[in-house]
Amino acid sequence: MNEYDSSRMADLLASTHGYERTEQAEEADMVLLNTCSVREKAQEKVFSLLGRWREIKEKNKKLVIGVGGCVASQEGKMIMQRAPYVDMVFGPQTLHRLPRMLDEVLQEHSQSVDVSFPEIEKFDNLPPPRVDGVKAFVSIMEGCSKYCSFCVVPYTRGTEFSRPFDDVIEEVVGLAEQGVREINLLGQNVNGYRGKTHEGRTVEFAELLHYVAAVEGIDRLRYTTSHPIDFTDELVDAYAAIPELVSHLHLPVQSGSDRVLKAMKRGYTAAEYIEWMDKVRRHRPDISMSSDFIIGFPGETDEDFQDTMRLIERVNYDHSFSFIYSQRPGTPAELLEDDVPMTVKKERLAHLQKTILGSAAAISEKMVGTVQSVLVEGPSRKDPSQYSGRTENNRVVNFDGNESMVGHFVDVLITEALPNSLRGDMQSEGFDLPMVRQFAAQIKVT
Ligand code: SAM
Repeated sequence: MNEYDSSRMADLLASTHGYERTEQAEEADMVLLNTCSVREKAQEKVFSLLGRWREIKEKNKKLVIGVGGCVASQEGKMIMQRAPYVDMVFGPQTLHRLPRMLDEVLQEHSQSVDVSFPEIEKFDNLPPPRVDGVKAFVSIMEGCSKYCSFCVVPYTRGTEFSRPFDDVIEEVVGLAEQGVREINLLGQNVNGYRGKTHEGRTVEFAELLHYVAAVEGIDRLRYTTSHPIDFTDELVDAYAAIPELVSHLHLPVQSGSDRVLKAMKRGYTAAEYIEWMDKVRRHRPDISMSSDFIIGFPGETDEDFQDTMRLIERVNYDHSFSFIYSQRPGTPAELLEDDVPMTVKKERLAHLQKTILGSAAAISEKMVGTVQSVLVEGPSRKDPSQYSGRTENNRVVNFDGNESMVGHFVDVLITEALPNSLRGDMQSEGFDLPMVRQFAAQIKVT
């Protein structure tokens, strides 16, 4: 989400102030730090980086320094108390006001702070996104109203709100016209989407998927990230009905222990979660699954952790985002004693990650000898004579290709599974995957 927000800031400042991107802070007229506060470690990095930028500003007095994102939202003016050389502090919902804040700094030589939550106004004030490549994010909702006991997001990004349906579709059509083939719908809980049409009807997430998949040129559809509590039967059925929807589901479970899930205020049990995953697998037996996990939540016992490991083995995950619990200010869990010793947390995390890496390696091995549809993104990073793209389950595949394949789907025979990628031989070019799938579905019906 921060990646998306950062690119919108770049688009916006390019259109209003003619700014261009540079990766070198020493060359910049302005440096912006887009922060995350979901875990303490990310937050700590903010002030150490600001310290380095202070030295650059001592040499270049005109350098404008801005801090945005969730740390900015949480700390507000306090950032300037600790780092008085910061010129602007803006939140995730006020980044569209950056040009105005920048003018204030440049013309009035004053500091500018705006971390309010004006909600949908943000999207109405951003230019249409420019893309460079075949994949794009589209933000469909923001904020969170789930109030999990460990999480700071509802307090830093505000409560859930959905972008109007027509605006989302217009953005997707615009992206498809620029050559985008794969859309990743973005939000804290995308499946909580409830967007209004211009007629005032509410469109839920599963219905939105049908409309986005129907946009000419969009052949692959992903979403990031969803919450199990909003995993409706309509969404399960979308896996049967929408061939563009990739065979990869990221559904964060956090823990496999019902006791811990209750303390986290997640609103479901491990058995209910497994049932949702099983229902999806009935439609897509080979779907790859991934999840977020929090290790060492207050009170997590060995037995609770074993429940998590049992769930992991049952689901057979392909990937995880797993982190040690981090106590966050202002959350209900802050009041609970952070009582699991760090050594135990680290051991549990290492065990969980090793197990999931093991199943991911086994899934990669199973792919050897199969033909995968790969969306070609460009020359391979390590070997420019090779081309690179991704499979539906998001694995990087490198193969002998050429420039004309970029932006197209090609069939690749997987020949080797490496720790972080696959190697393959191209079989044929330019199959239109959704058409092939639809054709296959028709044969089945007949
Ligand atoms: N839809 C997601 C869900 O179901 O929770 C929300 C994504 S959340 C913003 C991103 C991830 O950060 C969470 O899934 C969780 O694993 C992790 N996270 C959030 N708060 C955390 C904390 N206090 N300590 C460690 N990890 C945390």
